[in-house]
Amino acid sequence: MSRSAHPAGPRYADVLPEGHYVAPPTDLNELDPRVWSRTVARGDDGVVTVGGMDVKRLAEEFGTPAYILDEDDFRARCRAWRDAFGPDADVFYAGKAFLSRAVVRWLHEENLNLDVCSGGELATALDAGMPAERIALHGNNKSTDEITRAVDAGVGRIVVDSFQEIVRVAHIAERLGKRQGVLIRVTVGVEAHTHEFIATAHEDQKFGIPLAGGQAAEAVRRALKLDGLELLGIHSHIGSQIFDTSGFEVAAHRVVGLLRQVRDEHGVELPEIDLGGGLGIAYTADDDPREPHEIAVALREIVTRECGAAGLAVPRISVEPGRAIVGPTAFTLYEVGTTKELPGLRTYVSVDGGMSDNIRTALYDADYSVALVSRVSTAEPMLSRVVGKHCESGDIVVRDAFLPADVAPGDLLAVPATGAYCRSMASNYNHALRPPVVAVRDGGARVIVRRETEEDLLRLDVG
Ligand SMILES: *Cc1c(COP(=O)(O)O)cnc(C)c1O
Repeated sequence: MSRSAHPAGPRYADVLPEGHYVAPPTDLNELDPRVWSRTVARGDDGVVTVGGMDVKRLAEEFGTPAYILDEDDFRARCRAWRDAFGPDADVFYAGKAFLSRAVVRWLHEENLNLDVCSGGELATALDAGMPAERIALHGNNKSTDEITRAVDAGVGRIVVDSFQEIVRVAHIAERLGKRQGVLIRVTVGVEAHTHEFIATAHEDQKFGIPLAGGQAAEAVRRALKLDGLELLGIHSHIGSQIFDTSGFEVAAHRVVGLLRQVRDEHGVELPEIDLGGGLGIAYTADDDPREPHEIAVALREIVTRECGAAGLAVPRISVEPGRAIVGPTAFTLYEVGTTKELPGLRTYVSVDGGMSDNIRTALYDADYSVALVSRVSTAEPMLSRVVGKHCESGDIVVRDAFLPADVAPGDLLAVPATGAYCRSMASNYNHALRPPVVAVRDGGARVIVRRETEEDLLRLDVG
């Protein structure tokens, strides 16, 4: 399938893309635990509940669309990652997946560290009380102001991404009378996506300093000379929505190769290795992600083996899961506004949100699941496309889904696994008001990010 949208292209004539499951699920009322957060269940009255709250009440109280986040699930995933990696490794939650002050507090309480990649994310982290030494600042073009604020606040690590930035961070640190901990982000020539990784030609990207051609080794050389920097180690991030560890294996091999070269050349063993994030989650029942402990065991074994072969002590490992922590914890709750049956094709089911609250379908051709959650139905399965309300024919939330044939205006639909990269990538297209994030737990619900209002929009428009 192509990765870009073709508003007038053949996709609109397709009924189902090749290779996609064609058989409808046997029971449309069933909620597959692989794609729904831990506390989701269907009550005796047929209404779905999460954190002990039923979705009809949530819709009444908070409106739709809304992101409903299962706090217990979020915390359980934090603990699973923390416990899997143990005390001699660090788990950095990638804040870009979804960040709010409540999330920062949960991370702090669950002993995770935090990656930020902008001044705004840094401000959110510091405001909510994340200790600066547990924050890492990322980005391929951090501004002088962002670097200054980070160094001044005392962030534990800045992941430097270019030769210019090595000098920039060093100067800022020296000016502030500090020595800043840094990792050098390298590109190892591996790019992983989903079930495959490609081990050639992927130095052609904006992030990182290539290992190839000795560039990363040169970056280490320069960083070691600068008084303002404390070079802690090497960072590598190879992709997203990854389901197996073979890409990490190649990456670790190459990063450890650099560590060995650094030791041989400078007599220094760098103490840290950060293998990045990108671990996959189940968006549909076709996806089969690994559990954190399987990933931890595999990564530790890979790094230990490579270091053994290189005669190096095993460095402290860090990982940076974003999606794998927050993605499965939330669903988007929508109300159906219209349905349109196109005989021989499918039924278009329009909901009250769309590409402004979930751009991933349009942007990445992402697959999602969907369920009718305000009631059960015994109607026949109906091939559906769940679309939004925006002025754009590519405004698709779920490209191909089976819904009961009696789905009608007023029904509530939920799209699971929208915790990552949905609210954080939400837009105001068509002057849409970005939906709230409602955290549910133990029969209670509270807004952690409120719904935007028209006043919010007009406040920015200075006339
Ligand atoms: C985006 C990103 C992550 C998190 O990716 P996920 O797919 O959400 O796990 C981690 N590290 C870096 C450097 C990133 O850019």
